[in-house]
Amino acid sequence: MEHSRKAMIIKPSATLSLTAKANQMKAEGIDVLGFSAGEPDFDTPSHIKDAAVDALLSGFTKYTPAAGTLELRKAIADDYREKGLKYDYEQIIVSNGGKHSLTNIFLAIINDGDEVIIPSPYWLTYPEIIKIVGGVPVIVRTIKENSFKVTRAELEAVYTEKTKAVIINSPSNPTGAVYSEEELKDIAEFVVSKNILVISDEIYEKLIYNDKKHISIASLGEEIFKRTIISSGLSKTYSMTGFRIGYTAAPRDIAKLISNIQSHSTSNPNSIAQKAAFAAIKGSQDCVVEMKKAFSERLDYICRRIEDIKYISAVKPEGAFYVFVDISKLLGKEINGKKIIDAVDFSDALLDSENCVVVPCNDFDFDDYIRLSYAISMEAIEKGMDRIESFINKYY
Ligand code: PLP
Repeated sequence: MEHSRKAMIIKPSATLSLTAKANQMKAEGIDVLGFSAGEPDFDTPSHIKDAAVDALLSGFTKYTPAAGTLELRKAIADDYREKGLKYDYEQIIVSNGGKHSLTNIFLAIINDGDEVIIPSPYWLTYPEIIKIVGGVPVIVRTIKENSFKVTRAELEAVYTEKTKAVIINSPSNPTGAVYSEEELKDIAEFVVSKNILVISDEIYEKLIYNDKKHISIASLGEEIFKRTIISSGLSKTYSMTGFRIGYTAAPRDIAKLISNIQSHSTSNPNSIAQKAAFAAIKGSQDCVVEMKKAFSERLDYICRRIEDIKYISAVKPEGAFYVFVDISKLLGKEINGKKIIDAVDFSDALLDSENCVVVPCNDFDFDDYIRLSYAISMEAIEKGMDRIESFINKYY
């Protein structure tokens, strides 16, 4: 019997075996340190947890409207309006995490064979979701010299009659790059001139560490506003990954389609988590300021360490909580009888030798880069960087 062809082309993550090995080592009592965290190490702020407890105790435990509660959709729309984006609540759909929002978006816009341009390096989930819904991911590689930000010329080069949309992720996972207004304007002009859509993944929008302001491409004029679908969520900003709340801001017709799809798949996002999300958005933002301060200190530290370690380098990130590290100069060497061909081999050897986990970026389309997350304590970062340094000094 043949299973779903769409399901069978989904790529299992290349990092899975590495994670399994690290977990096995931990279970054996080995002191393994990890730079692989995709979520903040901070506890969820207490006023957010309290709102969840109140929701539970007061019996807010039943179905909600498919697109989310009115109060939460209005709170999200208000937040956008404060930033100059004129969404009303009917254009906001709350879903079960950012990943779910993205899945709904592609379900709503893709027909079989439609192409979606993904600038690489990319967050590894994008191509897989596009394939699940019958679309075709079209990868366009960006360059280090432009801080891995895609340009209009690069987009023009891969555009075809079948192009339906382009994905922009600012701040980016895995590079931490943040697009400027000028850069986004160029992309917006491309999108409008081709009459396609842009999916703007803004889940890290509040985690930027220099003077740069987050700019949403949707804010750059009426024409691009009509062609933008924003995907965002609370997982990263408020350390709420387990609550599973993401949301979409979209043109009315697309928002309606997403709401219909969601009504038949998950019915609605979790009722308790929606109350917690409302508290996160409407409550004090001091928790975000504090978290950002810690991330910013860690980022400065980790970048200083990278500068001091031979053969590796990184473009300094401006947002999110990852550093995308060039290890190309470390490839080709034989370590303990095994040739280090790519980032997976390097990460494996590092784990074996120093009990230190990093994310090889093969699945992000760069097999000569690793990703270091600094969503771990400063102490863990210090020890981990010591291990990476001693590994490189030992073998190179
Ligand atoms: N978008 C990007 C770029 C991410 O890195 C992530 C999580 O790692 C998400 C979306 C989805 O987040 P979640 O589904 O946990 O809300």
